[in-house]
Amino acid sequence: MNLIFLGPPGAGKGTYASRLGIRLDIPHISTGDIFREEMKKQTELGKLAASYINKGNLVPDEVTIDIVKKRLSEPDCEKGFILDGFPRTIAQADGLEHAEIKIDHVFNFLVGEEVLIKRMSGRRTCKRCGAIYHIETLKPKTPGICDKCGSELVQREDEKPEIIKDRLRVYEEKTAPLIDYYRKRGLLIDTDGDRPIDVVVDELVSIIQ
Ligand code: ADP
Ligand code: ADP
Ligand code: ZN
Repeated sequence: MNLIFLGPPGAGKGTYASRLGIRLDIPHISTGDIFREEMKKQTELGKLAASYINKGNLVPDEVTIDIVKKRLSEPDCEKGFILDGFPRTIAQADGLEHAEIKIDHVFNFLVGEEVLIKRMSGRRTCKRCGAIYHIETLKPKTPGICDKCGSELVQREDEKPEIIKDRLRVYEEKTAPLIDYYRKRGLLIDTDGDRPIDVVVDELVSIIQ
């Protein structure tokens, strides 16, 4: 099952993808997570990515497409994958088509702007394993500490109010056109992302099966 999760920043893509990946036993591939990992290791790619990400801009298409193609060629993707946060531009979607990577469904998560802003500004991410929490809606057992690995939870550099607004603008301009792109191809499934996490994930499982 080859899936794409589409939706604005803060819609819950990473939260739903990490849970659905476990249920379906397929890898959850987040380009944002890949870039943050490289940034932590301070690699050349990480430094390049940081110069875009910390301003709320997209990392250039060529760089991003190459990374995803490489990741999808790894053996664990043979039984399927969830792409979370990729593609984010028409050029990236064309990149997948040109590489003849078949997609089964594109889930488009719908969430109003007010909720998106609340979700992003309250999001906390584990420094080590990338697990996602929220200071109001998805609290860890011990404040500031990851339930899964015991590491510190931090707020991302790109979650400052000004940058959140820029990211929402970039989404509207560059990513929202993908809704029509995939609708025309008969792949798009609109999903209400403003419901309890388990309800959304159960619905995804029932649609896929
Ligand atoms: P995205 O990957 O689309 O940017 P995330 O999965 O990181 O979104 O979710 C953004 C924030 O909203 C996180 O703090 C997450 O814990 C919280 N969140 C996600 N889905 C829900 C939900 N259904 N209900 C309440 N909070 C949610
Ligand atoms: P969110 O789900 O909150 O938007 P992500 O973790 O998916 O956050 O992405 C964080 C940042 O990483 C994006 O704002 C962007 O700068 C960069 N990024 C992630 N995926 C892509 C992509 N497919 N193309 C270009 N830039 C990307
Ligand atoms: Zn952790």
